[in-house]
Amino acid sequence: MSVITDLDFMRGFIRLTANAFQNGWHERNGGNLSYRMTSADVSGAEPFLAAPSTEKEIGLTVDNLAGEHFLFTGSGKYMQNVGIDPEDALAIVRVSEDGKRYTLRWGLKNGGRPTSELPTHLLNHSIRKRVSAGKNRVIYHAHPANLIALTFVLPLTDAAFTQELWEMMTECPVVFPDGVGVVPWMVPGGVEIGIETGKKMETYTAVAWAHHGLFCAGNDFDEAFGLMETVEKAAEIAVKVRAMGGKKQTITAENFRDLAKAFGITLREGSGE
Ligand code: 13P
Ligand code: ZN
Repeated sequence: MSVITDLDFMRGFIRLTANAFQNGWHERNGGNLSYRMTSADVSGAEPFLAAPSTEKEIGLTVDNLAGEHFLFTGSGKYMQNVGIDPEDALAIVRVSEDGKRYTLRWGLKNGGRPTSELPTHLLNHSIRKRVSAGKNRVIYHAHPANLIALTFVLPLTDAAFTQELWEMMTECPVVFPDGVGVVPWMVPGGVEIGIETGKKMETYTAVAWAHHGLFCAGNDFDEAFGLMETVEKAAEIAVKVRAMGGKKQTITAENFRDLAKAFGITLREGSGE
């Protein structure tokens, strides 16, 4: 392996950023992505990694991520530029043994820091690692226009968003049977919004930030990206339906029950009724 960007996890990460930019979800530096590396990923990358740099505070404690390595987008970096110069736009960081700090081991060759949403990403990783028994490895944040538009017209509740998005496309409840969580407007880029998002990530893999965007969790890049696509497409249909004068008919509670039975899924209580 002659360059780090030939490694599979790097290729998957860069592919997501390119596709996401094409979808129009990443104006300027909007959005960010992180991946929890496997031990095989770390071994493959080790020849390219520097000795850990000075430790920086995370701002919260993520015990179960101690010693783990993550690939992050950098703060202020544009998704469209990630593939052009990954070593400028990306960062591999290692979480300290006490789960309170991190060090840079690769990337950000022209300076800078990992995404300003690092506390939210790491707390989400910590929670999703626990609730998915280690399966979830990707946390992805984007600014998709239709989902953001809905946060101006729907009640900012988990039940209202879940119900509306499930109704917009038959396969939505199959893709996100747990529904969508909603965090009210908060100042981004800090620990507080990370903590509120983390509470929702205990039970949801998709969490909307009012008037801002969406966070998705997944086992791999395809799954996190696919969830973002599905939620945003449902939101786009909701916007179109409203623009056409509103629903004249819809998927009923009985339809949802039949769907759950046919697909062997359990839909979250209190939604889709
Ligand atoms: P960063 O450039 O720091 O990743 O911030 C972008 C963003 O979307 C903040 O929510
Ligand atoms: Zn954002």
